Amino acid sequence: MKLASLILIALVAFASPAAIAATARGPICDTRARVGSTTYYSCSGSYHGALDMSNGTCNSWNHRGMLVGSRYYRYYGGCGQSCSATSCNGGAGNYVVVSGSNGWQFRQLHIGANGSSGSKTCDRCALGLVSSTGQSYGAHVHADNRRYGTRMTAWYTSVGTTCGRSAYCGNVVGNPTL
Ligand SMILES: [Zn+2]
Repeated sequence: MKLASLILIALVAFASPAAIAATARGPICDTRARVGSTTYYSCSGSYHGALDMSNGTCNSWNHRGMLVGSRYYRYYGGCGQSCSATSCNGGAGNYVVVSGSNGWQFRQLHIGANGSSGSKTCDRCALGLVSSTGQSYGAHVHADNRRYGTRMTAWYTSVGTTCGRSAYCGNVVGNPTL
């Protein structure tokens, strides 16, 4: 094989690392935490394409990173904290993004900020308060797995997550691609 071809192959391999499946557990370390929305809002409304998870409390220090293993959670803030909907960051409220390869992202939305909020690398540490910042009616954690901005659903349907499933931090709720 010519050297130029080998270099090209090496460049392509470097620029496009293979996407891998991560493991996501529930974000709330309270056995009352449940999945309240999946493919559809409230499980029967309009299209949602993500998991909404709540334990029925607001402003508890319990919004944890969901991905097993050390990950960089990039924080987008400026929304404070709220137990009712706010118009902030395009409806996302305070949120974190874990970026993978080839346009894949994993996001967790509606975080309530406090003094410890910010970008961090950690393994399922608390990221903030379970809150309702952004377009959120009732405090909860929204989690989505997007590719180039399009929400995917196979990451949670593949592990059998449906409405009412436990969103406790010990339970796997999905295998997002990153
Ligand atoms: Zn949601």
